[in-house]
Amino acid sequence: MNRRSVIVVGAGVFGAWSALRLVRDGWAVTLVEAYGPANGRASSSDHSRVTRAGYGAIDIYTRWATESLTAWHWLAKVSGMRLVNECGVLFLGAHGSPLLDETAATFRQLGVAHERLPAATVAARYPQIGVIGLGDALFEPRAGAIRARDAVAAVVAHAVARGAKYRTARVDPLDETRTTPVVRTASGDVLHADAYVLACGPWLPTLLPLAVGGRIRATRQELLYFGVPPGDPRFGIERLPVWIDFAAGLYGIPDLDARGFKVGIDRHGAAIDPDSAERLVDDEAVALARAFLARRFPALAGAPLVDSRVCQYENTSTGDFLIDAHPTWPNVWIAGGGSGHGFKHGPAVGSHVADLLSGRTGVEPRFGLESKTSTAARAVF
Ligand SMILES: Cc1cc2nc3c(=O)[nH]c(=O)nc-3n(C[C@H](O)[C@H](O)[C@H](O)COP(=O)(O)OP(=O)(O)OC[C@H]3O[C@@H](n4cnc5c(N)ncnc54)[C@H](O)[C@@H]3O)c2cc1C
Repeated sequence: MNRRSVIVVGAGVFGAWSALRLVRDGWAVTLVEAYGPANGRASSSDHSRVTRAGYGAIDIYTRWATESLTAWHWLAKVSGMRLVNECGVLFLGAHGSPLLDETAATFRQLGVAHERLPAATVAARYPQIGVIGLGDALFEPRAGAIRARDAVAAVVAHAVARGAKYRTARVDPLDETRTTPVVRTASGDVLHADAYVLACGPWLPTLLPLAVGGRIRATRQELLYFGVPPGDPRFGIERLPVWIDFAAGLYGIPDLDARGFKVGIDRHGAAIDPDSAERLVDDEAVALARAFLARRFPALAGAPLVDSRVCQYENTSTGDFLIDAHPTWPNVWIAGGGSGHGFKHGPAVGSHVADLLSGRTGVEPRFGLESKTSTAARAVF
Protein backbone atom coordinates (compact mmCIF):
# COMPACT_ATOMS: atom_id res chain seq x y z
CA MET A 1 0.00 0.00 0.00
CA ASN A 2 1.28 3.49 -0.85
CA ARG A 3 2.15 5.60 2.14
CA ARG A 4 0.26 8.86 2.52
CA SER A 5 2.43 11.82 1.67
CA VAL A 6 2.72 15.17 3.40
CA ILE A 7 4.68 18.32 2.66
CA VAL A 8 5.63 20.36 5.70
CA VAL A 9 6.60 23.94 4.84
CA GLY A 10 8.89 25.60 7.39
CA ALA A 11 11.70 24.05 9.45
CA GLY A 12 11.27 26.10 12.60
CA VAL A 13 10.49 24.27 15.82
CA PHE A 14 6.82 23.65 14.86
CA GLY A 15 7.53 22.34 11.35
CA ALA A 16 10.55 20.29 12.41
CA TRP A 17 8.67 18.44 15.17
CA SER A 18 5.61 18.02 12.92
CA ALA A 19 7.85 16.41 10.30
CA LEU A 20 9.45 14.09 12.86
CA ARG A 21 6.13 12.98 14.38
CA LEU A 22 4.58 12.44 10.93
CA VAL A 23 7.54 10.29 9.86
CA ARG A 24 7.07 8.23 13.02
CA ASP A 25 3.41 7.77 12.03
CA GLY A 26 4.43 6.34 8.66
CA TRP A 27 3.82 9.38 6.44
CA ALA A 28 6.15 10.05 3.48
CA VAL A 29 7.36 13.48 4.60
CA THR A 30 9.07 16.27 2.65
CA LEU A 31 10.19 19.23 4.71
CA VAL A 32 10.52 22.38 2.60
CA GLU A 33 12.41 25.37 3.99
CA ALA A 34 13.40 28.69 2.41
CA TYR A 35 16.41 29.69 4.51
CA GLY A 36 17.45 26.73 6.69
CA PRO A 37 16.36 25.18 10.03
CA ALA A 38 16.10 27.86 12.76
CA ASN A 39 17.76 30.37 10.42
CA GLY A 40 18.68 33.90 11.48
CA ARG A 41 15.32 35.32 10.35
CA ALA A 42 13.17 32.62 11.98
CA SER A 43 11.46 32.89 15.35
CA SER A 44 13.16 29.66 16.43
CA SER A 45 16.65 31.10 16.02
CA ASP A 46 18.93 32.19 18.89
CA HIS A 47 21.10 30.16 21.18
CA SER A 48 18.59 29.52 23.94
CA ARG A 49 14.89 29.48 24.81
CA VAL A 50 13.17 29.17 28.18
CA THR A 51 11.24 26.02 29.04
CA ARG A 52 8.73 26.21 31.88
CA ALA A 53 5.42 24.58 32.75
CA GLY A 54 4.09 27.62 34.66
CA TYR A 55 1.28 29.32 32.74
CA GLY A 56 -1.14 30.65 35.36
CA ALA A 57 -4.49 28.87 35.13
CA ILE A 58 -4.15 27.74 31.49
CA ASP A 59 -3.43 24.10 32.15
CA ILE A 60 -3.12 22.93 28.54
CA TYR A 61 0.21 24.76 28.29
CA THR A 62 1.37 23.25 31.59
CA ARG A 63 0.54 19.78 30.28
CA TRP A 64 2.10 20.39 26.86
CA ALA A 65 5.28 21.88 28.34
CA THR A 66 5.65 18.90 30.68
CA GLU A 67 5.09 16.39 27.88
CA SER A 68 7.46 18.33 25.62
CA LEU A 69 10.23 18.43 28.21
CA THR A 70 10.29 14.63 28.21
CA ALA A 71 10.59 14.70 24.41
CA TRP A 72 13.39 17.29 24.49
CA HIS A 73 15.31 15.01 26.87
CA TRP A 74 14.69 12.07 24.56
CA LEU A 75 16.02 14.09 21.63
CA ALA A 76 19.11 15.05 23.62
CA LYS A 77 19.73 11.38 24.40
CA VAL A 78 19.29 10.04 20.86
CA SER A 79 21.36 12.84 19.35
CA GLY A 80 24.07 12.73 22.01
CA MET A 81 23.80 16.49 22.52
CA ARG A 82 23.42 18.65 25.62
CA LEU A 83 20.17 20.35 24.64
CA VAL A 84 18.40 20.98 27.96
CA ASN A 85 19.64 22.66 31.12
CA GLU A 86 17.29 22.14 34.08
CA CYS A 87 18.53 25.07 36.12
CA GLY A 88 14.95 25.86 37.22
CA VAL A 89 12.83 28.93 36.57
CA LEU A 90 12.10 31.59 39.15
CA PHE A 91 8.79 33.39 38.61
CA LEU A 92 9.10 36.81 40.20
CA GLY A 93 5.87 38.65 40.91
CA ALA A 94 4.74 41.88 42.40
CA HIS A 95 2.98 41.68 45.79
CA GLY A 96 -0.28 39.70 45.46
CA SER A 97 0.35 38.70 41.83
CA PRO A 98 -2.64 36.49 40.79
CA LEU A 99 -0.53 34.83 38.09
CA LEU A 100 1.71 33.20 40.69
CA ASP A 101 -1.26 31.97 42.74
CA GLU A 102 -2.91 30.56 39.63
CA THR A 103 0.32 28.92 38.51
CA ALA A 104 0.81 27.32 41.94
CA ALA A 105 -2.78 26.02 41.86
CA THR A 106 -2.26 24.47 38.40
CA PHE A 107 1.04 22.95 39.55
CA ARG A 108 -0.68 21.37 42.56
CA GLN A 109 -3.47 20.02 40.37
CA LEU A 110 -1.10 18.49 37.81
CA GLY A 111 1.62 17.39 40.21
CA VAL A 112 4.35 19.72 38.92
CA ALA A 113 7.16 20.20 41.43
CA HIS A 114 7.38 23.77 42.71
CA GLU A 115 8.35 25.82 45.71
CA ARG A 116 6.93 29.09 46.97
CA LEU A 117 9.68 31.46 48.08
CA PRO A 118 9.10 34.62 50.13
CA ALA A 119 11.21 37.55 48.89
CA ALA A 120 13.50 37.18 51.93
CA THR A 121 14.23 33.56 50.93
CA VAL A 122 14.97 34.65 47.36
CA ALA A 123 17.41 37.22 48.72
CA ALA A 124 19.08 34.65 50.96
CA ARG A 125 19.28 31.93 48.31
CA TYR A 126 20.27 34.22 45.43
CA PRO A 127 22.08 37.26 46.83
CA GLN A 128 22.74 38.31 43.20
CA ILE A 129 19.05 39.28 42.95
CA GLY A 130 17.79 42.61 44.26
CA VAL A 131 14.35 41.96 45.74
CA ILE A 132 13.05 45.52 46.14
CA GLY A 133 9.37 45.64 45.16
CA LEU A 134 9.05 41.85 44.92
CA GLY A 135 6.37 39.75 46.56
CA ASP A 136 6.60 35.97 46.83
CA ALA A 137 8.33 34.09 44.04
CA LEU A 138 7.58 30.65 42.65
CA PHE A 139 10.39 28.25 41.79
CA GLU A 140 9.88 25.49 39.22
CA PRO A 141 12.96 23.26 39.58
CA ARG A 142 12.53 21.08 36.44
CA ALA A 143 12.26 24.09 34.14
CA GLY A 144 15.23 25.85 32.52
CA ALA A 145 16.74 26.51 29.13
CA ILE A 146 16.90 24.70 25.78
CA ARG A 147 19.75 25.25 23.30
CA ALA A 148 17.29 26.33 20.65
CA ARG A 149 19.10 26.41 17.31
CA ASP A 150 21.02 23.21 18.04
CA ALA A 151 17.78 21.56 19.12
CA VAL A 152 15.89 22.42 15.91
CA ALA A 153 18.83 21.23 13.81
CA ALA A 154 18.79 17.98 15.80
CA VAL A 155 15.06 17.46 15.20
CA VAL A 156 15.51 17.97 11.45
CA ALA A 157 18.53 15.66 11.35
CA HIS A 158 16.57 13.02 13.21
CA ALA A 159 13.56 13.33 10.88
CA VAL A 160 15.86 12.99 7.86
CA ALA A 161 17.61 9.98 9.41
CA ARG A 162 14.18 8.37 9.77
CA GLY A 163 13.34 8.92 6.11
CA ALA A 164 12.01 12.47 5.72
CA LYS A 165 13.23 14.39 2.68
CA TYR A 166 14.58 17.89 3.24
CA ARG A 167 14.39 20.43 0.43
CA THR A 168 15.56 24.04 0.24
CA ALA A 169 12.89 26.07 -1.58
CA ARG A 170 10.60 28.98 -1.00
CA VAL A 171 6.88 28.33 -1.34
CA ASP A 172 4.86 31.10 -2.99
CA PRO A 173 1.78 32.59 -1.34
CA LEU A 174 -1.20 30.32 -2.04
CA ASP A 175 -4.13 31.44 -4.21
CA GLU A 176 -6.94 30.89 -1.72
CA THR A 177 -9.68 31.57 -4.28
CA ARG A 178 -9.01 28.18 -5.90
CA THR A 179 -11.16 25.20 -4.96
CA THR A 180 -8.09 22.99 -4.46
CA PRO A 181 -4.69 24.08 -3.16
CA VAL A 182 -1.72 24.48 -5.51
CA VAL A 183 1.55 24.62 -3.57
CA ARG A 184 4.23 26.04 -5.82
CA THR A 185 7.85 26.98 -5.16
CA ALA A 186 9.34 30.29 -6.25
CA SER A 187 11.19 28.39 -9.00
CA GLY A 188 7.86 27.14 -10.41
CA ASP A 189 7.74 23.51 -9.16
CA VAL A 190 4.31 22.35 -8.02
CA LEU A 191 4.61 20.22 -4.87
CA HIS A 192 2.12 17.34 -4.84
CA ALA A 193 1.09 15.54 -1.65
CA ASP A 194 -1.97 14.11 0.08
CA ALA A 195 -1.68 16.75 2.82
CA TYR A 196 0.21 19.95 3.60
CA VAL A 197 1.32 21.46 6.91
CA LEU A 198 2.16 25.14 6.71
CA ALA A 199 4.41 25.92 9.70
CA CYS A 200 5.79 29.24 8.51
CA GLY A 201 5.75 31.20 11.77
CA PRO A 202 5.61 34.96 11.11
CA TRP A 203 5.34 34.34 7.34
CA LEU A 204 1.92 32.65 7.64
CA PRO A 205 -0.04 35.87 6.91
CA THR A 206 1.90 36.22 3.63
CA LEU A 207 1.45 32.61 2.66
CA LEU A 208 -2.28 32.51 3.48
CA PRO A 209 -3.51 36.11 3.30
CA LEU A 210 -7.21 35.20 3.50
CA ALA A 211 -7.22 32.43 6.11
CA VAL A 212 -4.54 33.92 8.37
CA GLY A 213 -3.94 37.56 7.33
CA GLY A 214 -4.31 39.81 10.40
CA ARG A 215 -4.82 36.84 12.73
CA ILE A 216 -1.04 36.74 13.20
CA ARG A 217 1.00 39.90 13.74
CA ALA A 218 4.80 39.79 13.70
CA THR A 219 6.36 42.13 16.28
CA ARG A 220 9.99 43.12 16.67
CA GLN A 221 11.52 41.70 19.89
CA GLU A 222 14.93 42.36 21.33
CA LEU A 223 17.32 40.06 23.17
CA LEU A 224 20.37 41.48 24.89
CA TYR A 225 23.39 39.61 26.18
CA PHE A 226 25.42 41.36 28.86
CA GLY A 227 28.97 40.40 29.76
CA VAL A 228 29.36 38.92 33.25
CA PRO A 229 32.14 40.18 35.53
CA PRO A 230 35.47 38.38 34.88
CA GLY A 231 36.22 35.45 37.16
CA ASP A 232 32.80 35.76 38.81
CA PRO A 233 30.62 32.61 38.56
CA ARG A 234 27.55 34.16 40.27
CA PHE A 235 25.71 34.87 37.01
CA GLY A 236 26.29 31.50 35.36
CA ILE A 237 23.54 28.92 34.81
CA GLU A 238 25.06 26.71 37.54
CA ARG A 239 24.44 29.38 40.18
CA LEU A 240 21.23 31.11 39.07
CA PRO A 241 17.94 29.89 37.61
CA VAL A 242 16.19 31.36 34.59
CA TRP A 243 14.04 34.23 35.85
CA ILE A 244 10.84 35.91 34.71
CA ASP A 245 9.82 39.26 36.19
CA PHE A 246 6.18 39.61 35.23
CA ALA A 247 5.71 43.13 36.57
CA ALA A 248 8.72 44.39 34.62
CA GLY A 249 7.84 42.46 31.45
CA LEU A 250 11.40 41.10 31.27
CA TYR A 251 12.94 37.66 31.60
CA GLY A 252 16.36 36.18 31.23
CA ILE A 253 18.72 33.25 31.07
CA PRO A 254 21.94 33.30 33.12
CA ASP A 255 25.26 32.97 31.33
CA LEU A 256 24.94 29.75 29.31
CA ASP A 257 27.91 28.47 27.30
CA ALA A 258 29.69 31.78 27.99
CA ARG A 259 27.26 33.71 25.73
CA GLY A 260 26.50 36.36 28.33
CA PHE A 261 23.63 37.12 30.72
CA LYS A 262 20.56 37.18 28.50
CA VAL A 263 17.75 39.69 29.02
CA GLY A 264 14.60 39.46 26.90
CA ILE A 265 11.99 42.19 26.57
CA ASP A 266 8.58 40.55 26.48
CA ARG A 267 6.50 43.64 25.65
CA HIS A 268 5.33 43.59 22.05
CA GLY A 269 7.43 45.80 19.78
CA ALA A 270 6.64 47.43 16.44
CA ALA A 271 5.51 45.51 13.34
CA ILE A 272 8.35 43.79 11.49
CA ASP A 273 8.89 42.18 8.08
CA PRO A 274 10.75 38.92 8.79
CA ASP A 275 12.38 38.86 5.33
CA SER A 276 13.79 42.36 5.05
CA ALA A 277 14.18 43.67 8.62
CA GLU A 278 17.62 44.84 9.70
CA ARG A 279 18.39 43.12 12.98
CA LEU A 280 19.98 45.98 14.91
CA VAL A 281 18.81 46.58 18.48
CA ASP A 282 17.49 49.99 19.55
CA ASP A 283 19.31 52.13 22.11
CA GLU A 284 16.08 52.38 24.12
CA ALA A 285 15.98 48.60 24.53
CA VAL A 286 19.53 48.59 25.90
CA ALA A 287 18.72 51.47 28.25
CA LEU A 288 15.56 49.71 29.48
CA ALA A 289 17.46 46.50 30.20
CA ARG A 290 20.28 48.39 31.91
CA ALA A 291 17.87 50.25 34.20
CA PHE A 292 16.29 46.91 35.09
CA LEU A 293 19.64 45.25 35.77
CA ALA A 294 20.64 48.09 38.09
CA ARG A 295 17.57 47.32 40.19
CA ARG A 296 17.25 43.53 39.97
CA PHE A 297 20.86 42.39 39.39
CA PRO A 298 22.85 45.34 40.78
CA ALA A 299 26.28 43.80 40.16
CA LEU A 300 25.50 43.88 36.42
CA ALA A 301 24.49 47.56 36.36
CA GLY A 302 27.50 48.59 34.29
CA ALA A 303 27.89 45.33 32.37
CA PRO A 304 28.78 45.75 28.68
CA LEU A 305 26.48 44.53 25.94
CA VAL A 306 28.41 41.64 24.36
CA ASP A 307 25.79 40.32 21.94
CA SER A 308 22.24 41.03 20.83
CA ARG A 309 19.51 39.72 18.57
CA VAL A 310 16.34 41.07 17.03
CA CYS A 311 13.75 38.39 16.53
CA GLN A 312 9.98 38.45 16.08
CA TYR A 313 7.00 37.10 17.94
CA GLU A 314 4.23 35.82 15.69
CA ASN A 315 1.32 36.90 17.86
CA THR A 316 -2.25 35.74 17.66
CA SER A 317 -4.85 37.99 19.28
CA THR A 318 -4.78 36.14 22.61
CA GLY A 319 -1.34 34.54 22.47
CA ASP A 320 -2.86 31.09 21.93
CA PHE A 321 -1.43 28.94 19.15
CA LEU A 322 -3.11 28.66 15.77
CA ILE A 323 -3.36 24.98 14.79
CA ASP A 324 -6.27 24.26 12.49
CA ALA A 325 -7.24 23.16 8.99
CA HIS A 326 -7.58 25.75 6.26
CA PRO A 327 -11.22 26.89 6.10
CA THR A 328 -11.75 25.67 2.52
CA TRP A 329 -9.03 23.04 2.03
CA PRO A 330 -9.33 20.22 4.59
CA ASN A 331 -5.96 18.71 3.61
CA VAL A 332 -4.05 21.96 4.33
CA TRP A 333 -3.13 22.47 7.99
CA ILE A 334 -1.82 25.61 9.64
CA ALA A 335 0.58 25.34 12.62
CA GLY A 336 1.81 28.62 14.04
CA GLY A 337 1.02 31.53 16.30
CA GLY A 338 3.72 30.66 18.84
CA SER A 339 3.23 34.19 20.23
CA GLY A 340 6.53 34.48 22.05
CA HIS A 341 6.17 31.28 24.07
CA GLY A 342 5.92 28.46 21.53
CA PHE A 343 9.43 27.03 21.41
CA LYS A 344 9.26 24.76 24.44
CA HIS A 345 6.00 23.23 23.11
CA GLY A 346 7.49 22.13 19.79
CA PRO A 347 7.26 18.38 20.54
CA ALA A 348 3.63 18.62 21.72
CA VAL A 349 2.70 20.75 18.70
CA GLY A 350 4.29 18.15 16.40
CA SER A 351 2.38 15.31 18.10
CA HIS A 352 -0.87 17.27 17.92
CA VAL A 353 -0.37 17.98 14.20
CA ALA A 354 0.34 14.28 13.54
CA ASP A 355 -2.77 13.32 15.53
CA LEU A 356 -4.89 15.80 13.54
CA LEU A 357 -3.66 14.54 10.18
CA SER A 358 -4.15 10.93 11.22
CA GLY A 359 -7.66 11.67 12.50
CA ARG A 360 -6.83 10.66 16.07
CA THR A 361 -7.93 13.98 17.51
CA GLY A 362 -9.96 17.05 16.61
CA VAL A 363 -9.08 20.72 16.55
CA GLU A 364 -8.53 22.16 20.03
CA PRO A 365 -10.96 25.12 20.23
CA ARG A 366 -8.34 27.30 21.94
CA PHE A 367 -6.10 26.84 18.88
CA GLY A 368 -8.82 27.14 16.23
CA LEU A 369 -9.05 29.81 13.53
CA GLU A 370 -12.45 30.87 14.78
CA SER A 371 -11.06 31.88 18.17
CA LYS A 372 -8.61 34.29 16.55
CA THR A 373 -9.36 37.91 15.73
CA SER A 374 -7.17 40.72 14.45
CA THR A 375 -7.55 42.72 17.70
CA ALA A 376 -4.72 42.24 20.20
CA ALA A 377 -5.98 41.04 23.61
CA ARG A 378 -3.09 39.07 25.05
CA ALA A 379 -4.18 36.55 27.65
CA VAL A 380 -1.28 34.08 27.68
CA PHE A 381 1.99 34.96 29.43
C1 LIG B 1 12.81 37.04 21.11
C2 LIG B 1 12.05 35.79 21.29
C3 LIG B 1 12.12 35.08 22.47
C4 LIG B 1 11.38 33.94 22.67
N1 LIG B 1 11.53 33.25 23.83
C5 LIG B 1 10.90 32.06 23.99
C6 LIG B 1 11.17 31.28 25.14
O1 LIG B 1 12.01 31.64 25.97
N2 LIG B 1 10.52 30.12 25.28
C7 LIG B 1 9.62 29.67 24.36
O2 LIG B 1 9.04 28.59 24.56
N3 LIG B 1 9.37 30.39 23.23
C8 LIG B 1 10.00 31.56 23.03
N4 LIG B 1 9.79 32.30 21.90
C9 LIG B 1 8.79 31.84 20.93
C10 LIG B 1 9.28 30.76 20.02
O3 LIG B 1 10.64 30.95 19.69
C11 LIG B 1 8.40 30.74 18.76
O4 LIG B 1 7.04 30.67 19.15
C12 LIG B 1 8.71 29.53 17.89
O5 LIG B 1 10.10 29.45 17.64
C13 LIG B 1 7.95 29.62 16.58
O6 LIG B 1 8.37 28.56 15.73
P1 LIG B 1 7.75 28.37 14.30
O7 LIG B 1 8.27 27.08 13.82
O8 LIG B 1 6.27 28.56 14.34
O9 LIG B 1 8.30 29.60 13.43
P2 LIG B 1 9.76 29.88 12.81
O10 LIG B 1 10.81 29.46 13.73
O11 LIG B 1 9.77 31.28 12.34
O12 LIG B 1 9.83 28.91 11.57
C14 LIG B 1 9.16 29.18 10.36
C15 LIG B 1 10.04 28.69 9.23
O13 LIG B 1 9.31 28.75 8.01
C16 LIG B 1 10.20 29.12 6.98
N5 LIG B 1 9.38 29.69 5.92
C17 LIG B 1 8.59 30.79 6.02
N6 LIG B 1 7.95 31.01 4.86
C18 LIG B 1 8.35 30.05 4.01
C19 LIG B 1 8.04 29.77 2.66
N7 LIG B 1 7.18 30.53 1.97
N8 LIG B 1 8.63 28.71 2.06
C20 LIG B 1 9.50 27.92 2.76
N9 LIG B 1 9.83 28.16 4.06
C21 LIG B 1 9.27 29.20 4.67
C22 LIG B 1 11.11 30.13 7.65
O14 LIG B 1 12.34 30.28 6.97
C23 LIG B 1 11.28 29.53 9.04
O15 LIG B 1 12.42 28.71 9.12
C24 LIG B 1 10.53 33.45 21.66
C25 LIG B 1 10.45 34.13 20.44
C26 LIG B 1 11.22 35.27 20.25
C27 LIG B 1 11.16 35.96 18.92
